[in-house]
Amino acid sequence: MIEAERRGALDAIGAEVAACTRCRLHETRTKSVPGEGSAATEVVFVGEGPGFNEDRLGRPFVGQAGDLLTKLLESVQWTREDVFITNVVKCRPPGNRDPEPEEIAACAPFLSRQLEALDPALVVTLGRFSMARFNPGARIGQVHGTFQPADPASGAPRALTYAMYHPAAALHQGSLKATLFRDMEGVPVALLQARERRVVGTGSPGQDAVQIEAATPPVEAPAEGVSTNSVEAEPARPSALEAGLTGESAGAAQSIELTSQTDLTDQLTLF
Ligand code: URA
Repeated sequence: MIEAERRGALDAIGAEVAACTRCRLHETRTKSVPGEGSAATEVVFVGEGPGFNEDRLGRPFVGQAGDLLTKLLESVQWTREDVFITNVVKCRPPGNRDPEPEEIAACAPFLSRQLEALDPALVVTLGRFSMARFNPGARIGQVHGTFQPADPASGAPRALTYAMYHPAAALHQGSLKATLFRDMEGVPVALLQARERRVVGTGSPGQDAVQIEAATPPVEAPAEGVSTNSVEAEPARPSALEAGLTGESAGAAQSIELTSQTDLTDQLTLF
């Protein structure tokens, strides 16, 4: 799909979301929040569901958690406009409660169709509800800061998925902020891997069974006392070098530019 077709598909999905009555969240919403961002992007961020501010404005991640997401993006020299930002559920759960399984199920086709339209190389999950969709059965305390092939049933069969804690978690538990910024450094690294995987053609449905070894970005030692909200200890994760990136590319990952998928077409010779 060319960019204009993607934009058309995203707009059509947004219009359907605005009229949706598939679950009870429509009864209490002010505005639906389909998502926003580049229609040519390689990277999609998926959160949990709209909160108070998002419900009023009809835009994702515009409250305090959104401010933190914007800063996380800036930390790797990206902007909100470079990526696409959306949620597992498109209407606010009252009182910001967790979305119920039937609400997630009712909304799932919208996220699937957005992913089919965008065909991202990388899906960054923010929080455990989003992670569960792309990496079912995983535990956030174990997989945050790592990537693996996205569950083909997610709607993004050719993507890698990279797990992060939800930015809102860091608003409640300050020590998670350092973890989030450290994990964010791994997102461009994961994008390099996702691009490479597409070029060599291992991103096709049915070829995703082998878990790609997780890459961790070139990171400094964690600050003293940094912990996650998990009771489990963080597993040792391989460095970018151990994960097969050259020192040069690992360093360059800090400033890797997001490229329009249209620009990448020539490189993606296998499809
Ligand atoms: N939290 C989310 O998960 N999504 C938003 O859009 C805002 C806050």
